[in-house]
Amino acid sequence: MKLKIPDAVLSIAPYVPGKPISALERELGVVNSIKLASNENPIGPSPLALEALQTVFDGLNRYPDGGAYDLVHKLSEKLGVPPEKIVIGAGSDDIIGMLTRALLLPGDQAVMPKPSFLMYDIMVRSASAEPVCVPLKSLAIDLEEMAARISSKTRMLFLTNPNNPTGTGITKTDFERFLENIPEEVVVVVDEAYIEFVRDPDCVESIGYVQAERPIVVLRTFSKAYGLAGLRVGYGIMPEDMALLLHRVRQPFNVNTLAQTAATAALDDHDFLEQTLNLVHAGLDYIGRRLDEMNIKHFPTQANFLLVDVGQNADEIYDRLLRKGLIVRSMTSYGFPHYIRVTVGLPEENKRFVDALEDVLNI
Ligand SMILES: *Cc1c(COP(=O)(O)O)cnc(C)c1O
Repeated sequence: MKLKIPDAVLSIAPYVPGKPISALERELGVVNSIKLASNENPIGPSPLALEALQTVFDGLNRYPDGGAYDLVHKLSEKLGVPPEKIVIGAGSDDIIGMLTRALLLPGDQAVMPKPSFLMYDIMVRSASAEPVCVPLKSLAIDLEEMAARISSKTRMLFLTNPNNPTGTGITKTDFERFLENIPEEVVVVVDEAYIEFVRDPDCVESIGYVQAERPIVVLRTFSKAYGLAGLRVGYGIMPEDMALLLHRVRQPFNVNTLAQTAATAALDDHDFLEQTLNLVHAGLDYIGRRLDEMNIKHFPTQANFLLVDVGQNADEIYDRLLRKGLIVRSMTSYGFPHYIRVTVGLPEENKRFVDALEDVLNI
């Protein structure tokens, strides 16, 4: 290519998503496979969301509501947050992109935990800014070190609560102490993609900290607990002046009609959410118990997935599980060469996973 490609773009490591079931079946000829790799809701989408979708097909010749009025107002009511503080995105990924486009100049720095969600790194580099990665400490985000790495170039800082891929939470006490050390010019982005699954009562929910004087942005998504990953819809809660900045760089029709309709209806589907949380928590307990019986080390989690220490090369275990029709994530590229990450599935899927692992590890 004769094009002059920006170094920042060349520095981006392409995102590798969890393998889709169709790809596994195509590549290895495995049938009946299950995916426990992308922290999706195993039950399916919210039935109320599916029902609401039926009502909007006829209107798909029209552009979506660019302001997502119904969804914004439903969220406002539910969360007790003024509509002016809510920005809707095509997944929370979209909000991360708006934040980095609106707020970062080339050469600015953004502090982030590592390993954590890869989109922070990708979006920061896309803005020609510099990710400053802070290693986890005992699988948890090292808040002290994150604060210590702030420099005069730092504009943004990412926290993930609970963290992906480790499932660790941030306590209220630690979060408040951390905020005291953060200069007001640094935007603190708290990604709460898994907040609905949290069981630890000490774990912080940060929406209450979003005030005009404090640039805090909370990210939430419909991709996990609400079962709408395929539609791409999420949101950010932030001070109003920051929301106005994000609207400037937002694509005017970033969230399609189906996504808006389904998300609005899903917020009313209390039964579905309850069923999801019960299933995930029971699944975590079941997997944990079985792994304990097999003397396989695993780690406490506040999310809908867990890290398992397979005690040997995780890529190999991943591969052997794949051949049995089980898609999980190897954590080798995240710096954990012996760990796999498994999303909680349906009861029979969880059983199939543990049985397969038992078999593969020859226990
Ligand atoms: C899954 C996930 C998201 C959700 O991304 P969407 O774009 O809303 O699907 C965000 N953050 C983390 C840490 C995640 O694991």
